[in-house]
Amino acid sequence: MNCADCGKVLEGEEVTAPCYNLDEEPVCDECYYGNYVFTCCRCENYEHIKHRGAIGSLIAVFDAQEAGIDTTGIYRILKHPYYTHCYIDAWLNKEAIQKIADFPSDLLREDDGLWGYPTGHLCQECQAKIETALSPTQENP
Ligand SMILES: [Zn+2]
Ligand SMILES: [Zn+2]
Repeated sequence: MNCADCGKVLEGEEVTAPCYNLDEEPVCDECYYGNYVFTCCRCENYEHIKHRGAIGSLIAVFDAQEAGIDTTGIYRILKHPYYTHCYIDAWLNKEAIQKIADFPSDLLREDDGLWGYPTGHLCQECQAKIETALSPTQENP
C-alpha cells in the first residue's frame, strides 16, 4: 500500500493504524502530520482538520484585537465563512460567531503566546468538556 498523497510505501503503524486524508485515503505519517492535523489549543493533542471549524464547533479567541472582534472568550461557529483572510492577515467574521463563555482559566498555558495566533481551535474532547462545564444542569434536568 502506498501513501495516497506522496506515493511513499506505507510501513508499520501506517498500515496497521492508518491515517487518512480528506478523501479518506490512507496517507503516510509525514503527509498526515504535515497536512491533515491541527493542534488543540487546550490539550495540544492532534486532531484531523476535518473537525476544525465545523459549524456548531467551538473556537478560542486569545487576542480579540488581532482577531478583529471585541472580547476574548470561547465562541461558537454559527455559519461559514467564520473568518476572512488576505495574504498576510485573517480576522473573524463577527456575525458568524457567538460568544458562549469567557476565556476559561484552564486554557491559559505556561507557554502562552500560543503559537502567535489570535485564535485557536479545540479538539472534540476539549469542546465536549467545555460544553459540559458550561451547562452542568443539562445532564440532570
Ligand atoms: Zn505521504
Ligand atoms: Zn483538546
